[in-house]
Amino acid sequence: MAKTPWVDKDECIGCELCVNNCPNVFRMDGDGKAECFDASGATEEEIQSEAIDACPVSCIHWQE
Ligand code: SF4
Repeated sequence: MAKTPWVDKDECIGCELCVNNCPNVFRMDGDGKAECFDASGATEEEIQSEAIDACPVSCIHWQE
């Protein structure tokens, strides 16, 4: 089963970088925090490099 990224919203600063880099995976919620809405919207490699590694506060994690 594919891994799913999840955002620790307590840590997210709402910079929208992950949303801009992976718009088919992440979106902003009503509170200005990012959330994953489709884990299959990009490859695991893309999510790792473009979102997880790029997040300035490292608040995106894999949920197995
Ligand atoms: S890159 Fe990180 S801090 Fe920025 S919106 Fe996404 S989860 Fe939040």
